[in-house]
Amino acid sequence: MNHKRALQHPVFKLISKSAEVLNVDAFVIGGFVRDYLIERGNAKDIDIVAVGSGIELAKKVSEHIPSKPKVQIFKTYGTAMLQYEDIEIEFVGARKESYSENSRNPIVENGTLKDDQNRRDFTINALALSLNHDDFGELLDPFNGLEDLDKGIIRTPLDPNITYSDDPLRMMRAIRFATQLNFKIEEQSLKAITENKDRIKIITKERIVVELNKILESDTPSIGFLLLEKTGLLDYILPELTALKGIDEKEGQRHKDNFYHTLEVVDNISKTTDNLWLRWAALLHDIGKAPTKRFHKKIGWTFHAHEFVGSKMVYKLFKRLKMPLNDKMKFVQKMVLMSSRPIVLASDVTDSAVRRLVFDAGDHVDDLMTLCEADITTKNPKKFKKYHNNFQKVRDKIVEVEERDQIRNFQPPISGEEIMEAFNLKPSREIGVIKEAIKEAILEGEIPNEHEAAFQLMLEEGKKLGLKVAE
Ligand code: ATP
Repeated sequence: MNHKRALQHPVFKLISKSAEVLNVDAFVIGGFVRDYLIERGNAKDIDIVAVGSGIELAKKVSEHIPSKPKVQIFKTYGTAMLQYEDIEIEFVGARKESYSENSRNPIVENGTLKDDQNRRDFTINALALSLNHDDFGELLDPFNGLEDLDKGIIRTPLDPNITYSDDPLRMMRAIRFATQLNFKIEEQSLKAITENKDRIKIITKERIVVELNKILESDTPSIGFLLLEKTGLLDYILPELTALKGIDEKEGQRHKDNFYHTLEVVDNISKTTDNLWLRWAALLHDIGKAPTKRFHKKIGWTFHAHEFVGSKMVYKLFKRLKMPLNDKMKFVQKMVLMSSRPIVLASDVTDSAVRRLVFDAGDHVDDLMTLCEADITTKNPKKFKKYHNNFQKVRDKIVEVEERDQIRNFQPPISGEEIMEAFNLKPSREIGVIKEAIKEAILEGEIPNEHEAAFQLMLEEGKKLGLKVAE
């Protein structure tokens, strides 16, 4: 079947013309073709295979574009890239690959289009469209990738055991594509992933995290995490999550399975936010429960201080996975640390408790509420409604308190300088004591968040400390 329609963008004609001048065959391959065939958005990444030098083809294409975009050359990989308008085009020479035991970097030699399709990870990623004059737009599909696309199947072109062992990153990619596309991983493939799971050790943490992030950014991330768990990969990557698996029972008391609960929370939150870090927070919000789990005869199962322990674990986990230890990590820590606060509050929504919540969560208070709402996984419709209503009350109260008291980015109404001036003080402990008393009074609702009231309180507190008002 001809798919000229996929190649309407003028850049394809330019590549075709350039290939003809160089007398090489050229094809679009991989994600662009796959996504076109399943009508999945408009790909901005285009991969081109040249049966010859990919670098020479890229240079020739650039010559044909009026703006002459810069060609970035990656000599070691034999690839080249250029940016055309908002499209990134990568060029590679068709190649044959063979692998050694200890590296995912293959030994490479020049090859045919078929050789190049053989080295692709999945049948649906080996689909190619011809850019050659004689059969422009023709689909080249040696492994029935079209059928797998149609049936929603992830399958490797060659023996899956070899494919995954050669480059174990493909195990993560299989699970990532299954999640993004809601496809099934074919049985032999799934078996091969399970058998090769410990090969994941040769993959860098950075690459694993790229795939994890893509799983988390999908519509239903649980598909990926369930597959990671089923194949045994999760134990290598995020043992904090597998530690949450299982239900213990003692003296007739059971707790919920916090692993499956967590996945439900992640799916829930993914319906309401695209914020990757908030999704990470949902994934990690209960990790402190495994190390803090205890059974007490009188009260049953407890997870005392799991939020605090969990937030400390976030740092270690990010560090181990070589993830950024920056404000994103701090945000996730904060969400995990505060994840139970609105729940405690919901049954009795007092102004002062809400003021404290807003004070502590700052600009992240809305994200925190979103996390707590996603955390409602009860299957009892009455309870579900009740918990949501309670959180709605908290949200309403937050708005009310905010309008009145401006707590969110709390700025003390009286500065340290003003206190020093009022009592003719040098920098000293007393200033901190007075400032803290003013902040507490505002949060408790004893005084409004206004200068005049705070000034009066400052005078009273100064008196208590035996300070004299300056003349
Ligand atoms: P997306 O852009 O959604 O990640 P993609 O399929 O374009 O999807 P890329 O990582 O850009 O993914 O890879 C482009 C193509 O290169 C793939 O479609 C596949 O044919 C091939 N490919 C990428 N990584 C591998 C790999 N580890 N092993 C074999 N082939 C791969």
